[in-house]
Amino acid sequence: MAHVELKNVSKVYSGKTRVVKNVNIEVNDHEFVVLVGPSGCGKSTTLRMVAGLEEVTEGEILIDGVVVNNVEPKDRDIAMVFQNYALYPHMTVFENMAFGLKLRKYPKEEINSRVNEAARILDLEQYLNRKPKALSGGQRQRVAVGRAIVRKPKVFLFDEPLSNLDAKLRVQMRTEISKLHNKLNATIIYVTHDQIEAMTMGSKIVLMKDGEIQQIGPPLDLYNNPVNKFVAGFIGSPSMNFVDGNITGKDNIAFTVNENVSIILPQEKINELKMYQGQKVTLGIRPEDFSINARTIDTDKNFIETTVEVVEPLGNETFLYFTISNEQFIARVDSASTVKADDKVRLYLDVNKLYFFDEKGHRIVF
Ligand code: ADP
Repeated sequence: MAHVELKNVSKVYSGKTRVVKNVNIEVNDHEFVVLVGPSGCGKSTTLRMVAGLEEVTEGEILIDGVVVNNVEPKDRDIAMVFQNYALYPHMTVFENMAFGLKLRKYPKEEINSRVNEAARILDLEQYLNRKPKALSGGQRQRVAVGRAIVRKPKVFLFDEPLSNLDAKLRVQMRTEISKLHNKLNATIIYVTHDQIEAMTMGSKIVLMKDGEIQQIGPPLDLYNNPVNKFVAGFIGSPSMNFVDGNITGKDNIAFTVNENVSIILPQEKINELKMYQGQKVTLGIRPEDFSINARTIDTDKNFIETTVEVVEPLGNETFLYFTISNEQFIARVDSASTVKADDKVRLYLDVNKLYFFDEKGHRIVF
């Protein structure tokens, strides 16, 4: 059993800046929670407070219901995997993995059995006698994970463990860590700035900005129901397109950017939307929600007519770049599309897939 809870946790470095602000997170047994957000938003600091490597300025951290604010890191029964692996260069793979257990004076047989089991799980059996410098980046990362596994901790903490790997290896290790999570049934808190890692690995995402939590939820909840413009723009790749405009019209209510771009909105929502008339409203559209052909009867009346500036054919899909009211837009369309640069196209929209945000960036739900 492992249950971790952060209650109103804040961190102030050297009496000045508040870099983590009143954070509340619950990590359930076997859950894979990812802390994600731009660099400097306080993810590592939060993780390091859970590990006991940073003091908690305000609030409480509980592991299995026990407040651990004043418990030494070594007594918290957690294991942490760092970005730089932190392997001992003069020790073999076996010795690196065994080191923590030796320090804790485990019997030799128990150490052998745990290290061999971890090596089997991580496919490292043939490298046990090698030194780290004779291993690839991915293998070193697996040793670092192995060193955590042998401890059989209550909770695994990962701090950007894949950042030093090249793109292909990163994808491979991503699935390996996900498989490992299933195999070990482990409780994991994982920090990354990469929204794709967060979306693909996490069972729950905690999205942070400037030390504050913006939204917590399963990956597709954040994708489908972002609470604000920041979450909407951070989750999804390529990012959601945004453009400012106004709610206009009396009987036929619409979102209007300029004389060329006006989107008719669902008339049954007229009451919810009318209150935003006269205010700046931001429209958000995901690149994948444009289409070259009208998909249904309902959508054929809503389209943006524009001139494509750049076409990027990627094989499995094609990106079209265009500008609306000085904002760069991307549409992600079928690779069978024959659109060329300078072509004038109609890009159809599904009104149910549009997002609107008020002046403060809060989502307008209608
Ligand atoms: P992230 O992991 O999201 O990139 P961090 O938790 O590392 O962010 O850092 C959050 C903020 O705290 C940053 O502005 C960083 O400069 C600051 N910070 C981190 N460590 C210290 C420290 N030891 N002293 C003072 N400020 C720090």
